[in-house]
Amino acid sequence: MEKQNLPVVVVGAGPVGLAAAAHLVERGIEPLVLEAGASAATAVRDWAHVRLFSPWAEVIDPAAEKLLAPTGWVRPDGTTYPTGGDWAERYLQPLADVLGDKVRYGAMVTGVARAGRDRTVDSGREEQPFTVHIATADGGEERITARAVIDASGTWSVPSPMGANGIPALGENKTADHVAYRVPDLKDPAVRARYAGKRTAVVGSGASAFTALALLADLAGEETDTHAVWILRRGIGDATYGGGEADQLPARGALGLRAKAAVEKGHASAVTGFRTEAVERDGDRLVLLAEDGRRLDPVDEVIVLTGFRPDLSFLSELRLGLDERLQAPIALAPLIDPNVHSCGTVYPHGVKELSHPEQDVYLVGMKSYGRAPTFLAMTGYEQVRSITAALAGDHEAAGRVELTLPETGVCGGAGLFDEPDAAQSDEGGGCCAAPATLQIGTVSPAAYGGC
Ligand SMILES: Cc1cc2nc3c(=O)[nH]c(=O)nc-3n(C[C@H](O)[C@H](O)[C@H](O)COP(=O)(O)OP(=O)(O)OC[C@H]3O[C@@H](n4cnc5c(N)ncnc54)[C@H](O)[C@@H]3O)c2cc1C
Repeated sequence: MEKQNLPVVVVGAGPVGLAAAAHLVERGIEPLVLEAGASAATAVRDWAHVRLFSPWAEVIDPAAEKLLAPTGWVRPDGTTYPTGGDWAERYLQPLADVLGDKVRYGAMVTGVARAGRDRTVDSGREEQPFTVHIATADGGEERITARAVIDASGTWSVPSPMGANGIPALGENKTADHVAYRVPDLKDPAVRARYAGKRTAVVGSGASAFTALALLADLAGEETDTHAVWILRRGIGDATYGGGEADQLPARGALGLRAKAAVEKGHASAVTGFRTEAVERDGDRLVLLAEDGRRLDPVDEVIVLTGFRPDLSFLSELRLGLDERLQAPIALAPLIDPNVHSCGTVYPHGVKELSHPEQDVYLVGMKSYGRAPTFLAMTGYEQVRSITAALAGDHEAAGRVELTLPETGVCGGAGLFDEPDAAQSDEGGGCCAAPATLQIGTVSPAAYGGC
């Protein structure tokens, strides 16, 4: 078959993979979405109980909406905030259903390569289509030939460990019965019983950690003796709790304020500059030890919310250009590097920043950010709009990428990973110099006046 007539394989039926399929359909290109799970949005369903900090208006892709509109789909009120469960049920699964047999479930991608060419071979490489290896839910194996591959497989399946050096702390794996890597669903009686009246260490300093601290504080209001020990690798400063009321996503700002209230009301005690090196058992409890020798009082449970990392194992035969720190595409990495800035504002980016030495292969969505923490769905929708335009040969539309993300309100030049006593530098705040922008969702362009 002519390479151009082959489908574009999209890995993952999450928000961004499904949006990619919708944009491909709009462009008259055949997509084939391969999803490991049994339904659309398997990862999002895993955190069904968490409420998004983005309103509906900012998590629905425009091309997807065009596909859904003729089916009688009712657009949720754009000003309200869905949970992960709402996002999956009221938008993502209906979208996958419209795409019909363009989405295959129970199809785990295990390898992507150029047909007949391993990573080392130059000869005839770019003329070859891609071979996508899949493991099917019934235990079978298949190969699918594709003209291009858009990897939207997210990072949800690979949470970062508690160990501050990125490797599980000594004892972390052996104490797994008391360590969780997800925001707890306290409406589930079994989960509630695990944390009610207990002392829980929460490791991490992003939106998920704030959510966990807020939920445990609510629980403490009902079940006395519930207490959180908040473990931060850095110190507490102005930026610790996010932008608060200055955050252009008010619900995201509110999360930080709820975490702050949990500390101020005594439901959580913060331990700063603590880089976990080891976890030891103390009877039925756990003791965390830091690299500097500090040893904390025992806790009953640990919740690790230190971010995620991309699974690059099935892409090992491709020539990817990835930044050595973030494992994000090289041109995108400096825009989102948490060592440098924290405001979440990204200058316009699309196919140009997301291209690799290997042509026609793209990492999009959460995975495109590698280990950087500030990804928003709207970024992914713009990425796939640009990439699919390029695949359709519409280079003008592909290059016309205009996207600025809502700022977190904490962009002052400080990096997210600064040492506890690091001086706040005025340098590195390039993220705050917003270029000409396009209004997205409910975010007003007037709000982008810099920091
Ligand atoms: C708790 C939480 C709250 C968030 N809140 C917001 C918010 O309010 N606003 C916002 O804009 N963003 C938010 N995000 C960030 C981001 O928008 C979401 O994580 C979003 O789900 C990312 O979409 P994605 O399609 O890139 O990846 P995912 O949603 O992770 O989807 C990836 C899909 O790929 C599948 N998959 C994985 N590996 C394979 C494989 N090898 N083969 C086949 N299929 C595979 C998975 O099963 C999954 O269905 C939040 C993230 C989390 C974790």
